[in-house]
Amino acid sequence: MSKAATATRTDLVEDLMARFPHIPREAALKEDLLRTGFAFDESALTDNLDGEIKPKSYFIFSFDQKPLAELGEAAKRRPPEEVALTGGPYGLRRTIVSVRVNPASPYRVTDADGKLTLSLEGREIAEVGLPPMPEYYRHTLANGKTVMETAPTIQWGYLIYLTVLRLCQYFGAHEECGFCDINHNWRQHKREGRPYTGVKPVEDVLEALTIIDRYDDAKASKAYTLTGGSVTSTVDGLAEADFYGRYAQAIEERFPKRWIGKVVAQALPREDVQRYKDYGITIYHPNYEVWDKRLFSLISPGKQRYVGREEWHRRIFDAAEVFGARYVIPNFVAGVEMAKPFGFESVDEAIASTTEGLDYFMSRGITPRFTTWCPEPTTPLGRDNPDGAPLEYHIRLLEAYRDTVEKHGLKPPPGYGVAGAGNAVFSVSSFMDALPAEEVVPA
Ligand code: SF4
Repeated sequence: MSKAATATRTDLVEDLMARFPHIPREAALKEDLLRTGFAFDESALTDNLDGEIKPKSYFIFSFDQKPLAELGEAAKRRPPEEVALTGGPYGLRRTIVSVRVNPASPYRVTDADGKLTLSLEGREIAEVGLPPMPEYYRHTLANGKTVMETAPTIQWGYLIYLTVLRLCQYFGAHEECGFCDINHNWRQHKREGRPYTGVKPVEDVLEALTIIDRYDDAKASKAYTLTGGSVTSTVDGLAEADFYGRYAQAIEERFPKRWIGKVVAQALPREDVQRYKDYGITIYHPNYEVWDKRLFSLISPGKQRYVGREEWHRRIFDAAEVFGARYVIPNFVAGVEMAKPFGFESVDEAIASTTEGLDYFMSRGITPRFTTWCPEPTTPLGRDNPDGAPLEYHIRLLEAYRDTVEKHGLKPPPGYGVAGAGNAVFSVSSFMDALPAEEVVPA
């Protein structure tokens, strides 16, 4: 039997940590947790909004590796939104990881006598800290809706995540991105009778932000993201730029520059992007999802159909003239370029391709960023690739990303808090953990 066939997950992780000693161990482990998910002992789950721990909000996608109906107790008592890992045999500095649930994961969070730990294949590898329930989650809107549903916060409270449209108008296999479960997630929450608003009224969003502004005593929230599905026709009679623009305008009128405003939308024509800027938005994310030309049209067929890859990239550069290159931060989903049946078969090819894309943008001053692919089972790519991409790919991507940032003399992108292992709060990939630590200048 080959070594690969007998190797444990612990062997895999520790072998890669040894081969890539310049990548922080925290970042390597975080990537494995994001691609694999956590199992939770029942005792480590939250009491939803009635307890002391901040529950998982399902802020846009499910980010779970089993459907809600198969999560057992974790579907009734939600897991925490994030965990903070420290210590253990790898001497982890504080590492914030978004919670993706997978009852079959070799990583398990358990509660022994009030002390939470993370184990890998039964061996304890970290202490687990949980996010406390923020005071603003204890208040509701006048219509009874919760702040968690209307304006959840992630990244340890740093980012208010406003998914104002819970559906995408790219619809079905010929349009939906192959890794995305936004439409399925909407359906499953509705089916389970959870509050889950398709289109969030502007007034609800403003009211929830008022509550956050009032009760976020520590001023932990520094940014908001306005996002949701793509609009190819209209919503509430509005095309995409008008639809998302109305929230941006209302928020910035009510709370001028209180938070760093970000919009995730399609790559829109320059005049639409200019309006976001004029409303007071600081950062624009026209996500290109995957670099390779063939894979883009196969994995994001809606983006190819409605905009097209070359035009998408051209609009990214147009947007850089509006916002400034540093403030246009397109995302890609790390790992999907290795997904069967279309993806690259070797890590070398996948890294070479993705690095070409990073070079293309970074050489022009634009710093993309990435989220780590979560193979959700109800998506075509998740169904065919339940284990996601190889961990080696994710670790080598961190290396390539860091090298390319350095090569072009760029800084970590703005709007993500402080970089460096032990400091980073960005929870859905470890690109911020893997960048060199920034000097923190006292106020
Ligand atoms: S554009 Fe793609 S990734 Fe974004 S919501 Fe629509 S299907 Fe999902």
